[in-house]
Amino acid sequence: MIFIKKIGIEILVTILYYSGIPSLFRELIQKNRVTILFFHDPKVSIASRNFRWLSDRYNIISLDHYLAARKKGDMRTLPPKSMIITFDDGHIGNYELLRLVKEYNIPITIFLCSGIVNTNRHYWFKYSELDSSDSLKILSNQKRLNILSESGFYPEKEFGYPQALSKDQILEMQEYVNFQAHTVFHPCLPRCNDEEARFEIEQSKKQLEQDIGLAINALAYPNGDYCARDIQFLQNAGYSCGLNGGHGFNNEKTDLYSLNRLPIGDGDNIKLLAIKASGIWAFLKFFFRTPKTRSTTQMSKKTGTPLYSETGYI
Ligand SMILES: [Zn+2]
Repeated sequence: MIFIKKIGIEILVTILYYSGIPSLFRELIQKNRVTILFFHDPKVSIASRNFRWLSDRYNIISLDHYLAARKKGDMRTLPPKSMIITFDDGHIGNYELLRLVKEYNIPITIFLCSGIVNTNRHYWFKYSELDSSDSLKILSNQKRLNILSESGFYPEKEFGYPQALSKDQILEMQEYVNFQAHTVFHPCLPRCNDEEARFEIEQSKKQLEQDIGLAINALAYPNGDYCARDIQFLQNAGYSCGLNGGHGFNNEKTDLYSLNRLPIGDGDNIKLLAIKASGIWAFLKFFFRTPKTRSTTQMSKKTGTPLYSETGYI
């Protein structure tokens, strides 16, 4: 069954790729909008291929460039088909991106978990004893932590090797790379109680600024999940913007605390990259989401704000 599904997806991808729709989207819909992509931990050869392909077709700008245009209220300072490239979590493999960023002369933003960088602590969703991290994402934060603890994991546990970038690596990269916040330990924010969510949002900015000397103005919501309460905490903590992980583009009116990003898989081939970067894939996924997927895109009981988690990406 999985094999048949895989073949079906491959056929759909091939049809979409050769249909010309991605380039049509690029020229018509993305031309006057800002597209933000997010990756995680691609191999350097794949990242290199992606950077080359994207920079040949889009104008890669920095997140700050877009935020400055928003502040000025003048989007005409942005080139057509503007694209912002981001990476979530701060994986140690991201260090390899430094030479690519220099080679292609493109700005990127990496969102860091302040409690994991520069330590031997690990990302909970990469813990090898877990069958799947997806089922834990829908539990309350405390329940998730309890289950992890029963299997031998806790957020501050030091392992024998790092999974995240070190302070030295971040300092070496920061001339070329914009580093921003991705909470402290990467919980699903809407599953946290008020105290936990406030801690994750406030401390991430504080720790990255005080311990590493970074200037933090943006936070990418872990797993793309957030609610109105979290936006309020971001504003109170002094962030200028928050980024989700679902579908859609950005213009002069997009809510700065719900900036839209499109997920790209770390191992996606060029056809998938073309389709996903054009926004078609996320649109189709959202439009044809199954009842099971729909149930994860719930409304927050507390705020009435949709909790975006349709991507399945961390
Ligand atoms: Zn993440």
